[in-house]
This record gives sequence, C-alpha cells and structure tokens, in this order.
Amino acid sequence: MPSLKPDITGFTRQELAKKLIELGLNSVLVKPVWNGVYVKGATDFSQIATLSRKHQLLLADHFTLGRSTIVRDLISRDGTRKWLLQFPDGHRVESVMIPEQDRGALCISSQVGCTLSCTFCHTGTMKLVRNLTVTEIVAQALNARDKLCEWGKKRTDCVCTNIVLMGMGEPLFNFDNVSTALKIIMDGDGLGISRRRIMLSTAGVVPMIKRVGIELGVNLAISLHAVHDELRDELVPINKKYPLHELLGACRDYPAASNARRITFEYVMLKGVNDSDADARELVRRLQGIHAKVNLIPWNPWPGAAYQCSTRDRIQSFARIINDAGYSAAIRASRGDDIMAACGQLKSDSEHSVVTR
Ligand code: SAH
Repeated sequence: MPSLKPDITGFTRQELAKKLIELGLNSVLVKPVWNGVYVKGATDFSQIATLSRKHQLLLADHFTLGRSTIVRDLISRDGTRKWLLQFPDGHRVESVMIPEQDRGALCISSQVGCTLSCTFCHTGTMKLVRNLTVTEIVAQALNARDKLCEWGKKRTDCVCTNIVLMGMGEPLFNFDNVSTALKIIMDGDGLGISRRRIMLSTAGVVPMIKRVGIELGVNLAISLHAVHDELRDELVPINKKYPLHELLGACRDYPAASNARRITFEYVMLKGVNDSDADARELVRRLQGIHAKVNLIPWNPWPGAAYQCSTRDRIQSFARIINDAGYSAAIRASRGDDIMAACGQLKSDSEHSVVTR
C-alpha cells in the first residue's frame, strides 16, 4: 500500500519551510534537513545527526523519506547503466546513467509510458501512462547518487554531473512536477546540479517552451526529426497540433538561449525517410536565426519497428552539409544499446504487473 504520508523529497526548500512551521517547528531546521537528505544522502530521519531525536521522530511521524525500489540494475559493456525503478503503486520507469571521461549524464524519465506515439520510438508503443510525481522524479537522481556512492563528494569526483530529461515521457506534459523536481535538483545547498548542466528535451509542446526558459533556464533540446510538416506529422504526431513554424518560432524566442547556450535539435537518422541531402539543406534553412546546434542520432532498433538506421556514409554526408552551413552537427554515439538503454529503446518492463493486477 502506498503510504499516506507525503515524502519529504516532494517539497522545494520554501515548501519544506512552510511544512515545518505548520508542525510548530522553526523554519531554520530546513537547513539540517536539506543537508541531510541532499548532501549526505540520508534514507531515514534518524540518520540526520544534526537533528535532535525529538525532531527526527516528529518528522518521521509526518513524512516518509525513502527510496524507490530498484527492480533491476544493468550495466552495459560500454559502462552505461540502466536502472528500473518501481514505485509504491507498482508502476515502473527506467533511468539511464551515461558516464563520460570527466562527467556523466543521468537520463531521467518524466512519465510512465508516453502519449506522443512517435512512430520510431519504443516508448511510444506503450499504452500505460501516468505522470511521475515530484518525489519520483527526484528519486531518480537520489538513486544515481546512492548507486554511484557519490554522497558528500565534490562535483569533480562525481560521475553524475549532468541531467538530461530524455527518458520516458514528455516532460512538458508534466510541467509542474518536472519544474518543482528540477528546482529541488538545482538547489545549490543540496544536489546542486546547475541549470547549465541540465537539458530538457521536448517533442514540441510549444505553449510551454517559454516557461522552461523563464522559470527554469535549463538547456533546451527539441526532437525535430523532420523538416517538412507532412513527414513530421507522421513521425512526431504532436506536430499536427504545433507545426514546425510555431515550434521554430518558440525556439527563436527561447529566453535561455544564446550563442554560448544553443538549443540542441535532435534528428534521428531514418534510412530513406528523412536523411537526404535535400533534407539537410532544408534543416539549415529552417534553423536560420536560431541559436542552434544539431545532434544526429543514429536510429536505435527495437523489436517490431518498421525503420532502419541510415548508413554511416549518409549520416556523415548529412552532417557535412550542416557543418558547412556553420552549425555544429554532432553524431551521437549510441550508448548502452546492448541493454536496451539507448535513445528510444526505453520501455522497461514497466507495463508488467500493474496492467494485469
Ligand atoms: N518526449 C521527449 C523526451 C524523450 S527524449 C522528446 O521527445 O524529446 C528521447 C529522444 O530519443 C527523443 O529525441 C526521441 O525522439 C529519440 N528517440 C526515440 N526513439 C529513438 C530511437 N529508436 N532511436 C534513436 N532515437 C530515438
């Protein structure tokens, strides 16, 4: 049974101060609680040594402070790690840790399943959907710190330095919870992952994009994948609601973009579908006036998919056209594909028991 008590990791620092006052406590206690949970990694109020026993018990009476259950922990041959988390109601999501030389990105999920139904994406084939709560989003970051033994370490000694919202779900369909969770994750006295180290990826929920820039100021990524509405309507069906000129208009006006902080345009390379030189030239034309860089993603296969990945030569030729026009076009290395942890492969076994229960 899910607990009726709220989990303390669902509150921003300001909200926590209010809760403590409601309990008749002094709001100065926020500091030791916050430090205990987000710097030391306490999993029980009794572990917060800077609190009196009385306060530890009072908090335990009113809040939970736990961890989600980790159902599976897989490590890829390239070091990528995929965790399957289960929440008290039985729902499951995946998060993926992608280590690099001097840093690493934790790819977190924002929903169970996804309603976007992008035709080339495995998560898009999932029916079941619910928004993750603030606690469930924050839990993914806490789990990474736990598993990587990074509590109390300097950032330069950590693998989990960056966060990308590129897991399961559409973060802008769950904006309120994503936004609160990111404020908790960004808090400088806690996990302290700054907005410059966070990237939020959207398929193009246009009305929310400005708020991401103003309220969160994180880096923005757009899952573009096609440069004509006709094809994008098919690949990324939300395009029917927010077509390309509206999406690119919102990008042109994105408040947190600059020359130094470019918007990343993700473009999955689908053989014979969206990968011609003419497509690349049209992409360049469409990006004019936007602080943009392009990330070409070799399409990752999943069982039953109707696509193939473009050839290496094709991807390179596509990249060259973009580079020659003055935009950076990186070809994303596929990470963790042996454990189905690469982009678009997340589906998890999250459809399991809850459906049949
Ligand atoms: N819903 C958000 C967050 C998901 S991000 C969004 O669409 O941006 C996941 C990224 O991986 C998106 O760019 C998605 O389009 C891409 N992707 C999905 N399936 C893929 C696949 N099979 N191969 C490569 N990339 C894929």
